[in-house]
Amino acid sequence: MIYPTYEQKHVPLTDPAAVREVFREGYENGRAACEYGTAASYIPELAKADAAAFGLYAWKKDGEVIDLGDTTTRFSIQSISKVINLAVALKFIGFRETFSHVLMEPTGDAFNSILKLDLVENRPFNPMINAGAIQVMSLLEPEFSFEELLEFARAICLDDGIELNESVYRSEAETGDRNRAIAWLLKSKEVMKGDPDRITDLYFKMCSLNVSAKSLAGLGLVLACEGTNPFTGKHLIAPGYVRTIKSVMFTCGLYDESGEFGVKVGLPAKSGVGGGIVCAVKGPMGIGTYGPALDAKGNSIGGITALEHIAHRLRLHVFDYT
Ligand code: GLU
Repeated sequence: MIYPTYEQKHVPLTDPAAVREVFREGYENGRAACEYGTAASYIPELAKADAAAFGLYAWKKDGEVIDLGDTTTRFSIQSISKVINLAVALKFIGFRETFSHVLMEPTGDAFNSILKLDLVENRPFNPMINAGAIQVMSLLEPEFSFEELLEFARAICLDDGIELNESVYRSEAETGDRNRAIAWLLKSKEVMKGDPDRITDLYFKMCSLNVSAKSLAGLGLVLACEGTNPFTGKHLIAPGYVRTIKSVMFTCGLYDESGEFGVKVGLPAKSGVGGGIVCAVKGPMGIGTYGPALDAKGNSIGGITALEHIAHRLRLHVFDYT
C-alpha cells in the first residue's frame, strides 16, 4: 500500500499524467483496504455483494475521465439518495420551508439512530440521517411520484440507465421496521404530516436505485459545476442550493465518521451502505467510488482510503490554500 506522507510534494491538477498516477495509487490503496471491511447485511440483499470489488471513477468538466476497476457494476445507491431528495426539496419547496422541518446539525450518532430525535429535539437533526431523510421525503411524497424522482435522479447523475433494483427494494421493505418506526415516531410528535407507510415506501424505493461508480461521479460533477450539466449546459439546481447541499454533505455525509473524514479528506461527500461514495471536487470534477466492504461506521473502507490518498496528494481538501 502507498501511504500518503506529508513529505510528499503535492501534484498539480495541471499535470494530467501525474494526476492519473495519483488516482491509480489511490485506487490500489482502496482495493487493498477492502479486505478489512464487510458488506452490509442488515438489508439481506446487500450481503450478496462481492466485498472484494472496488472501482473508482473521476469525471471532469471537459469530459476527461479516469476509470479504474469496477466502475460499471450496478449497486443500490442507499443513503446517497438523500442528496438527491434534498436537492428536489430545495429546488421545488425552497430553503426556508425545507429547513423548517429538519435541522442542519451533525449528530455524531449512527445513521438510523432515534436517540436525539426522542430526547433532544423533535425535528430530525439533518437530512443525511434516516430520520431527516424520511422527514424530507414526507415533504416530497404528496408532490412527486417515484417516476418523477427517478427522472430527476437520472438527470443529476448524468445516467439515463438508473432503474429501481426490485430485489433490493423488496428486501429493504421487508426488513425496514426501524425506518417505519422513525416515521411513526415523527408522526406521533406531529412533526411529520402524511402517511408514514407511503412515505417510507418512497424512501425505500429511492434507496434502491441502481447506480454505478460512474453515475456517482456524474452526481459529484453536477454538484462541482454548481448544479449545471456541463455537457448540455442544462441548469438542474441553483448554485445557492448546491452550496447548501455540499455544506450538509461536508458536515453530515459520512454518518458518525463525518468529522474524521472532514479532517482527513476535507471534501463534500456522501456514502451509502451499498458501498458507494460520491464526492464533489474543485476542477471541477466529480468522483464516484464503489466498494461494498464497509468499516464499523458503515462507510466504504476502500472509498475512504482511496479518497484520502487522492485528496492529500492533489491538495483537494477545501481548506488547502494552494
Ligand atoms: N436504506 C438504508 C436504510 O435506510 C440506507 C442506509 C444508508 O445507506 O446509510 O437503512
